[in-house]
Parts: sequence; C-alpha cells; structure tokens
Amino acid sequence: MNPSDLEFDLRHIWHPYTSMTHPLPTYPVISAAGVELELSDGRRLIDGMSSWWAAIHGYNHPVLNEAAKSQIDRMSHVMFGGITHPPAIELCQQLVAMTPAALECVFLADSGSVAVEVALKMALQYWQAKGEKRHRFLTLRHGYHGDTFGAMSVCDPDNSMHNLYKGYLPNHLFADAPQSRFEGEWQPEDITSFRQLLLQHHNEIAAVILEPIVQGAGGMRIYHPEYLRQVRKLCDEYQILLIADEIATGFGRTGKLFACEHAQIEPDILCLGKALTGGYMTLSATLTTRHVAETISQGEAGCFMHGPTFMGNPLACAVASANLKLLSDNQWQQRTQSIESQLKAELLPLKSHTTVEDVRVLGAIGVVEMKQPVDMASLQRRFVQHGVWIRPFGRLIYLMPPYITRSEQLSKLTNAINDVII
Ligand code: PMP
Repeated sequence: MNPSDLEFDLRHIWHPYTSMTHPLPTYPVISAAGVELELSDGRRLIDGMSSWWAAIHGYNHPVLNEAAKSQIDRMSHVMFGGITHPPAIELCQQLVAMTPAALECVFLADSGSVAVEVALKMALQYWQAKGEKRHRFLTLRHGYHGDTFGAMSVCDPDNSMHNLYKGYLPNHLFADAPQSRFEGEWQPEDITSFRQLLLQHHNEIAAVILEPIVQGAGGMRIYHPEYLRQVRKLCDEYQILLIADEIATGFGRTGKLFACEHAQIEPDILCLGKALTGGYMTLSATLTTRHVAETISQGEAGCFMHGPTFMGNPLACAVASANLKLLSDNQWQQRTQSIESQLKAELLPLKSHTTVEDVRVLGAIGVVEMKQPVDMASLQRRFVQHGVWIRPFGRLIYLMPPYITRSEQLSKLTNAINDVII
C-alpha cells in the first residue's frame, strides 16, 4: 500500500474510539482468507478476534461469497416498505426456527446498536399500548449495548460515556454486576441489588436489558447462570419484559447456540447481530413474542414506529441465511468445545503469573485480565511481530477466534499471549 494512503488515513479517517490528533497506528489489511489476515507487506496474521465476534467461519468463505454473488446478480437492495423478498423470508424462517419457540416476530435492522434501540422502543411502545407510562430500564453495571443514545444509556454508567453525555441520556437503573463466576459457586447475595431495584421501581420499569452470561465490552466478565435464572424469575413475578442482548454471545460463541441456554431461560425480546452474517456485512435482528408484537400493534400508533432505509437488505439477508446454514452444517458445537478445552489448557496456567489478575474461558472465548492496563499500541505491535491479530483493551487481552481455527493456529495465538505477558 502506498505510504501516502496511510498518511491520508491517519489525517482524515476516524477509526473506532481513536483520537484525530494522536491516532493509534493502523495496520493495512489487503485481503483475508480462512483465519488469516494479509497485510499489505505480505505478512499473514492469524486472527484471534473474528473481527469483533463476527467472522465465525473465517474470511473469504466460498459458501458466503457465493451467496453474496448470486444475490447481487438478482438485486442488492430493494425497499422493505410494502415489499418483501425471498432472502428476508428465508432468513426470518431460520431465525424463528432456531430461537426459542415464543419468539415469533422478527424486526431486521442495520447494526447491533440499532437492534438494541429497536428492543428498547418495543418495550416502551408495549407499555404505552397497555396504557402505562414506563420509561425506565433496569440493567447491570459493566454492561455494554452499543454506541447510539438509547444503547449508551443502558451501558455501564462509570465505564462508558455517561459523563460525556450527561444531561442528554435518560436516567436508568443499574444493578450491581454479578460476582459469582460461571463455574464457581452461586452466591445468593449476588441478586440482592437487582431485586431491590426491581422492588422499588417495578412500576416505572419497561424492561430489563442485559447481556446473558458474558458481559463483553464492559469487561469480558463471565457470570453464573443462576443470576440469569433469578432475573427471569423476578421479571416474571413483576411482569416486566426481559431483553437479552445476544449480539456478541449469539450463534455458538459461548458453547451454546445462545447464551440464555446456559440458564435454560427465554427472553421476551432477543437482539442478534455481529455473527449473523458471518462477519460479511452489517445486519441485526430483534425478535419478540406474538404477545408483545400484537400489544404494540394495538397501541396508539397502530404499528411499531421504526423502518430504516436498508431494512431487510437482501444482500445481507442472503449472506446471513447462508451463514446460518453453514453454522448448522459445520459442527459448531464440537469446534467451540475443542477451542474451549484448548484455551483452558493453554491460558489457565497464566493465572499464576504475577502480572495476571484472572484468566477465564467459556466456549470460544478466552480472556486474560491483567493487573494493570496494557499499552495497546506496543502490545499490538508485538502481536503482529508474532504473526497474530489480537487487539487488547484496558486490562484485557482476549481471544475469540473463528470456529474454524485449527489447533496449531490457536496455539500460535495463545503462545503469543504467553510471550507478551512474560
Ligand atoms: N450489544 C453488544 C453486547 C455488543 O457487544 C455490541 C458491539 N460490540 C453491540 C450491542 C453494538 O453492536 P454494533 O457495534 O453492531 O452497533
């Protein structure tokens, strides 16, 4: 790649959470195939990130390529208002079939954050239709749900952007994050803060929103399924909707198809995104029950008030549909199980290292939490020198590799972590 292109990038292009005056370095990737990213200088990196949970089958997959190509020759896009098309119908049939039976009605949106906005709006319209003013959401500290305003308002208030946008964000309720570890013992006092907030505020709460089992960007915390069971029970008791944000955890990442299955619970509203298209393009889905959908439809507006321009984009739906078929054909369960065993074998020993606070593994997720924040730029450089793509943040160095990652490729990732820590 031309050096002047990189200079242009530095000077003119914003990257995620990056300063325009002191930008972190970016690495030019010119192609990607399987689990490898190719840099413009010819180096190949084994990808440990799945492009932020998305590329579950790896890059440049022939089946997904073919789905995109054959759809593009028919039509890339057509408006969804007053029109429907086979890719959307086929995808929604698959989604309805693979999610809990009660989740029958699908809203297709553009990104994870928008799926969360849609879920929050569904809950608000649901209560409005029932003639009750309920404007608050109950959620968990250390949560992350996206960067749009509604989504930000339910992200962790300390860890995120609440201070920056003070006065602009609605004031929601935050229960203490669960402390009981996934594989540890359940501590009953874990649910106390959540229960108390529900008790005090249930008349104003429209819904509970949380990330089931794994709190991702808010700290890669993996918590006990009993917490989720108790939340479901309390929501039932107080007849409050439960929104599960499975944008990161969905489609097998935690070793179950959906993380809610670890607790055998079902949400009233489910948000999906990221891996939905196998990382090919942006698309999300918010599913809900017929009861919620019908209640909303009987309200003042007579419909759900959302309809993005690219809703149900046929190209994205065709790829998503092929991606879900691939998922069911590709023995994701065995693959994530073997990734989990290997991550446990190769990362858990790091726990004894003096600079390491904690190591946790679930499904195809491995997290090394350091005692001190890492220097992202220098660590990233060292990872690239090791031939791997791992992007740490805060005190966290973590892996969520594509499910197709082979054992020796995974070892290359865990060895690189070992090497930079020691
Ligand atoms: N919810 C969760 C749990 C997420 O991890 C993310 C993305 N990191 C989002 C919502 C937002 O999705 P997007 O970035 O596609 O808007």
